[in-house]
Amino acid sequence: MNKKTIKDIDVNGKRVLVRCDFNVPLDKETGKITNDLRIKAAIPTIQYLLDHNAKVILCSHLGKPKGEVKKSLSLKPVAEKLSEYLGFEVKLAKDIVGESAKELVANLEEGKAILLENVRFDAREEENNTEFSKELASIADIYVNDAFGTAHRAHSSTAGVAEFLPSVAGFLIEKEVQMLGDKLNNPQRPFVAILGGAKVSDKIKVIENLLTKVDTIIIGGGMTYTFLKAMGYEIGNSICELDRIDIAKETLEKAKNAGVKLVFPKDTVCADEFKNDANQKVVPSTNIPEGYQGLDIGPEAILEFTEILKNAKTVMWNGPLGVFEFENFAKGTNAIAKVLSEINAVTVVGGGDSVSAIEKGGFSNKITHVSTGGGASLEFLEGKPLPGIECLDNK
Ligand code: AMP
Repeated sequence: MNKKTIKDIDVNGKRVLVRCDFNVPLDKETGKITNDLRIKAAIPTIQYLLDHNAKVILCSHLGKPKGEVKKSLSLKPVAEKLSEYLGFEVKLAKDIVGESAKELVANLEEGKAILLENVRFDAREEENNTEFSKELASIADIYVNDAFGTAHRAHSSTAGVAEFLPSVAGFLIEKEVQMLGDKLNNPQRPFVAILGGAKVSDKIKVIENLLTKVDTIIIGGGMTYTFLKAMGYEIGNSICELDRIDIAKETLEKAKNAGVKLVFPKDTVCADEFKNDANQKVVPSTNIPEGYQGLDIGPEAILEFTEILKNAKTVMWNGPLGVFEFENFAKGTNAIAKVLSEINAVTVVGGGDSVSAIEKGGFSNKITHVSTGGGASLEFLEGKPLPGIECLDNK
């Protein structure tokens, strides 16, 4: 990575503002954190700064309060979790850059951390408002961005503030860029990408960018059917973006010219309704009967994909291969998650749903890299510059 990281600067005794991605899922009833992967992922950076005597000022957004103070989206549960992981009380400011935050910063000791309240309680955050960026900068000497999950957004705390302070990346951003960038740009071959999810429109740029890098792309999930329709097959009532048929045709042509194999599921588990206990049957993906919609890849497809993956040396996976929220149509996605955990290859998984499948199966520690960024990892894979990374100081 060509950006400076916390290892490239002296943080001793400095007030360091660290933008993390503590946007964790909360239980609607109890308000408790249901998955703290993002908090855990931020710890190495925070611990490094504490060990090097910095005064650490943490900040993040949580949910979508839309510029209003909402008690249910307070970072209080995050402060409690951080206190547990760091072994001392991480105090939560009552505001972002107001009296409470300023007082906590003024009293902050070296080697200790505090947390500012949800930055999206102020509408100026998402507007990337210059005054708000300056106010954030005014309470610190150095800015560290470690919020990979929000790095595709140009907001005050993810990008704007970098104009006013020396700005560097934390370890999480460094690792994400290494894994999604360097490792996939110089892959061990064969390099296989697996792309699933609902829509072609969301993934088309990723496919195009990957065509210059991969040997094979396995396509699953809802977007399969737009491609199959583009090839002239019967897809019954399966999800299909009719306005993307031409783009799908172009992509098929581009893949052919690039010498990249696009592999579609040979068979499909289709259903007569979009629900978990619908009547289902396995049919060839090229001939889905009228009144039925494809909701998962079939057993033959699982076998074929497994064989391809067993020979791969690098695998990147983004998006579920079926409607995995319905247990009866989660088999394909779960099977692929398991295969990824068993093969001897560099495996990189991004996107909320595929990450959930990996976690649900208990495979996280058998995957080379599980990305913390859904939208951010997709935009990165599209080859787009991420504002939260672009804004940092070059090496
Ligand atoms: P994405 O956010 O694009 O990764 O898409 C994830 C969503 O795609 C999940 O909610 C899945 O239920 C949905 N999905 C996957 N396969 C299908 C399918 N065959 N038909 C309809 N939706 C699907």
